[in-house]
Amino acid sequence: MKNVFEGFNSVQIGIVIVVTLLFGISSFKNGIETIIVGLVCGFGLSYWLIARYNKRKNMSADEIAKAKEEKIKNKTEIKKAKLLAKEEVEKHKANIATYKQQQKTARVNPLVCPKCGSSEITPLGKDKKSFSWGKAAGGTLLSGSVGALAGYTGKDTGKTVFVCMNCGKQFKK
Ligand SMILES: [Zn+2]
Repeated sequence: MKNVFEGFNSVQIGIVIVVTLLFGISSFKNGIETIIVGLVCGFGLSYWLIARYNKRKNMSADEIAKAKEEKIKNKTEIKKAKLLAKEEVEKHKANIATYKQQQKTARVNPLVCPKCGSSEITPLGKDKKSFSWGKAAGGTLLSGSVGALAGYTGKDTGKTVFVCMNCGKQFKK
């Protein structure tokens, strides 16, 4: 008995015994078997409360401060971890959104730069032969020297000239 009540003064031991008995007696009316449950509950509750009280009383101010600090530290750590996890989730979401956008762009504009692979392609216009000798000759026949200029309007090749907004490469397609 002395070992169990280590650190308890006689008043505290008395409280535990009284509470245990009160719990036991009050459960007695519900049947003889419940008396054990009542005794155990009464003892457990009063013993735990008083032991906790004694432990706190015996702690030095330093220990109390340390325990508080530890609690705050743990809380901060948990908060940090939560924030980090949230950030990771946001990053992951952003990655998925970017990927989806890229897929969408690729579907709408299947053109990619032959140099860097970027899909940011802008059409410049219809591809034309820079100088058409045929048209130049025809133009000259029709209207003299002005006809040579007509050659520059070029002949449509059916292709389009694109420029890569990323690296500046021009290509026909
Ligand atoms: Zn490019």
